[in-house]
Amino acid sequence: MRNRTLASALLLLGSLTPAASCSTDPPTDDSARAPGGPVDLARIKGIRIVSDNSHDRSCRWAASYPDVPGATAMTAAMKKDVEGRVADFHGGEGHGPTALCGGVRTATRRARSAELHIGFSFLVASGDVLGVRLTTFESPSAGDGTDTRTYWYDGRDGTDRPALELVAPGSRNAFAAAVRKRLTGVEGADPASLDDTARDHAADHGADRATALDDLAFTDDGDLRVSFDRGTVGVPAAGRHTVTLPETTVRPWLSDFGRRAQRQTLRPGRELDLGATATPTPPPVPTYTADGGDRTDRTDCAEVTCVALTFDDGPAAPQTATLLTYLAAYGARATFFTVGQNVAAHPELVRAEALAGHEIGNHSWDHPDLTRLAPAEIRSQLARTNAAIEAATGRAPTLFRPPYGAIDDKVRFATTLAPLMWDVDPEDWKYLDAVRVAQYVIANTDRDEVVLLHDIHPTSVEAVPEILRTLTERGYHFVTVSHLYGHRHTD
Ligand code: ZN
Repeated sequence: MRNRTLASALLLLGSLTPAASCSTDPPTDDSARAPGGPVDLARIKGIRIVSDNSHDRSCRWAASYPDVPGATAMTAAMKKDVEGRVADFHGGEGHGPTALCGGVRTATRRARSAELHIGFSFLVASGDVLGVRLTTFESPSAGDGTDTRTYWYDGRDGTDRPALELVAPGSRNAFAAAVRKRLTGVEGADPASLDDTARDHAADHGADRATALDDLAFTDDGDLRVSFDRGTVGVPAAGRHTVTLPETTVRPWLSDFGRRAQRQTLRPGRELDLGATATPTPPPVPTYTADGGDRTDRTDCAEVTCVALTFDDGPAAPQTATLLTYLAAYGARATFFTVGQNVAAHPELVRAEALAGHEIGNHSWDHPDLTRLAPAEIRSQLARTNAAIEAATGRAPTLFRPPYGAIDDKVRFATTLAPLMWDVDPEDWKYLDAVRVAQYVIANTDRDEVVLLHDIHPTSVEAVPEILRTLTERGYHFVTVSHLYGHRHTD
């Protein structure tokens, strides 16, 4: 349960390196795992990101999806989809990905950890149209592990719409034929598989076709892009297939909803209005300021006993606000390794963290195992998050904590941010028990150590007052990790 924290020299080196030099290269265009999307999350009123992560070393998963006020049916559909995939990954005996996950646990220690990652990006959030793509990555997996699906919501009549409903019912045969034609001659593609679906299941081919054609979205030019998961329309070895039908071709085939979705993609309106009857009132944001406004921490860790509490995976409302209140009561400083999409949804909480004198670090955009990503994808995960943190606080972080602590040379070379691990891990994501978490931290923390907690879990936040009270009684001072490494005592 104990990890070695990286050397202070490395950390100081990182803090002296301008974060702005971090590349902002976008991932390659056909990357199915591009994080984020073009939509500014903070512009979606009342958005809540539903997320949960498991940090089990041999069976890791992170899943998140958006809950947008008004789009109740769509949120419910995504919840069902996500929860089903997580359950498949987790449980059951002897079948499918579950067996792979369980199998890794008992396999040789050299076996790579299983991972399930479900992330989302907004395609459109404008007017009465909401479009979201869920991207699932799973390893090990029978295919390339990536599965994408687009969800569409029509605020005009409050309907959750499968992707194929962008096309009018009477035009779907013509549309499918055009897609088949585009796939003809493409290496590894088997356009007849779309034919077969229609012919063999004449009575219900609509459902089958809707399953195959479950990722449809408009490009910035109004073209309609159809993405197929590996093995859907060809041999698995050929990977994913993408077909883009020109705007002029698809225009006559679009449904009324499809035309509105296309229009909102090309010319987004100012506000998303899905006819929500009530937008949740955001919880109050604390306005603590460190030492009456002086953000400089003068704690001398050479003289007094210091410890660094770190909180990963947030911010989350309302837990993070509650946590800030507890920390302020003890004049304690902490470090928050925030997830970019949560920063984008709750910039006010990250601003409050910074104002209170806490340190903000980067924990990637949506919590993938970075070692499985291409360098451009790693850069995108970190650069987008740095940009969101800088937009919220006016200051870009210099530290990052790789999700799951998973790091290799490819990740190190992809960023100038200094990686920061931890010493004390109460496994609070597993033991959702405030008393147990507090007891573990109190019993296992020594001078100058870094403690790992997660402020997305209310039980972890509720463990903090006891940790602060007991360790304060024992003479501990709570500082940020950069302060700890810059000032700690030497034996
Ligand atoms: Zn994490």
